[in-house]
Amino acid sequence: MELAEDRIQKREDRCQMAEDRAQRTDNQIIEANMSLRGSETTEAIPPAQKLFGVSWGISPQSPQPTFSRGRNERGGQKDASNMERVNINLGVRGYPVLIGEKLLSKTGALLNDYEISKKVAVISNPTVWKFYGKQVIKSLKDAGFSPVKIIIPDGERYKNLKTVEKIYTGMLKAGIDRKGCVIALGGGVVGDIAGFVSATYMRGVKYVQIPTTLLAQVDASIGGKTGVDHKLGKNLIGAFYQPLFVLSDISTLKTLPEREFRAGLAEIIKYGIIRDAELFDFLEKNASRILIRDREALEFIIRRSCEIKARIVEQDEREETGLRSILNFGHTIGHAIEAATKYRKYLHGEAVAMGMVAEAELSGVLGYASGEEIEKVRRIVGGYFERSLEDELLKKKLLTYIKLDKKKAGELIKIPLILSIGNVDVKKIDLKKLLFVIRRKR
Ligand code: NAD
Ligand code: MG
Repeated sequence: MELAEDRIQKREDRCQMAEDRAQRTDNQIIEANMSLRGSETTEAIPPAQKLFGVSWGISPQSPQPTFSRGRNERGGQKDASNMERVNINLGVRGYPVLIGEKLLSKTGALLNDYEISKKVAVISNPTVWKFYGKQVIKSLKDAGFSPVKIIIPDGERYKNLKTVEKIYTGMLKAGIDRKGCVIALGGGVVGDIAGFVSATYMRGVKYVQIPTTLLAQVDASIGGKTGVDHKLGKNLIGAFYQPLFVLSDISTLKTLPEREFRAGLAEIIKYGIIRDAELFDFLEKNASRILIRDREALEFIIRRSCEIKARIVEQDEREETGLRSILNFGHTIGHAIEAATKYRKYLHGEAVAMGMVAEAELSGVLGYASGEEIEKVRRIVGGYFERSLEDELLKKKLLTYIKLDKKKAGELIKIPLILSIGNVDVKKIDLKKLLFVIRRKR
């Protein structure tokens, strides 16, 4: 009996030590930011209102953002080094998402505050490397690291175990040990693969996400889902594994192709619909600023999106309580559209945009949402995307793919439906009703 109690006590002590370590790490990041601030010139110190501001309202009339207090209430903070910080509160696995401009040069300094060896692997693809590889390598070298670059081919079709195997080989040959660290520099594909490598290499090494697409900054880099595709399906092999931190450098979005940029916006619109009427409103009123990639507008929508995903992930880290499934709004039909067109015709976000309109219409047909709310969804999606679900042949094919959906049980399917903008609920509905909505003329 005593032995068992001893063991329990020891385990609790260990947990406490781990919590303490996490707390120290947290403090260290703040210190890192502080020291970064110290190394900058005074002109980099932002106006006072930025330090205090809370929810930014950028009105369509004024080109200047207006700042108001209270922003930090939802987790976002802007420190004096002028980056936003959103904490993902997951106890010992918790970490910050740092959002701002020109952050790549801070990679090494930030990493220096963690207990890792000096040899680190930077995983990227040729497209991203061409633009940002040098900056990251320089920052790591300046901070005393010996970075090893590992370049994988660009594209979802390389998100598989073959690529993972090649990365392992590269890391083993370079002598990366258990104390080593992986830096994922790229979009969601690089992030998912590098995260999975980190979860499994020598039973797990630390890693950092540096997402360079809008989609990866607001979605793929947050929440710890890592993995690769199998020839029988997407994302079937993987692990939940959280990074040390996420560094979202908005400057990297300048080189992102237009279609990829808009595809990322679909997920941001989704966050507005499921959780944040204010974000939705902002997206409606500021489309032109967002589409010219205005820094402040981007910083706002990225931070709000990260906060929403953070709060959902915190409550359902491993997709067990069902809450995380509200993130699937627009995705039941979206995924079917992607599969029916063999993942070639539409980008994920474009398919999700069409899916969101159809699933909003379904919410209306079933009486959960008012016509006015549905019209708002149609309008906002129409403002950012040209494509809509008009292809009759595609509509016919969708049933086959919806029937393969994991969330289906018999003739019923679980799907998040809109109650009002900012508020969705997962409902079990009859497949026939879903089909009725898909097939009707628009
Ligand atoms: P991606 O990684 O394929 O990037 C899209 C394209 O943009 C690529 O050609 C890439 O090389 C290029 N690119 C990236 N950054 C660039 C930049 N700054 N400038 C110019 N070009 C740039 O696609 P994605 O949309 O970022 O991610 C999609 C992947 O993310 C999918 O595999 C999906 O399964 C995964 N995902 C994962 C999660 C998760 O929770 N882990 C969530 C959503 C999506
Ligand atoms: Mg998605």
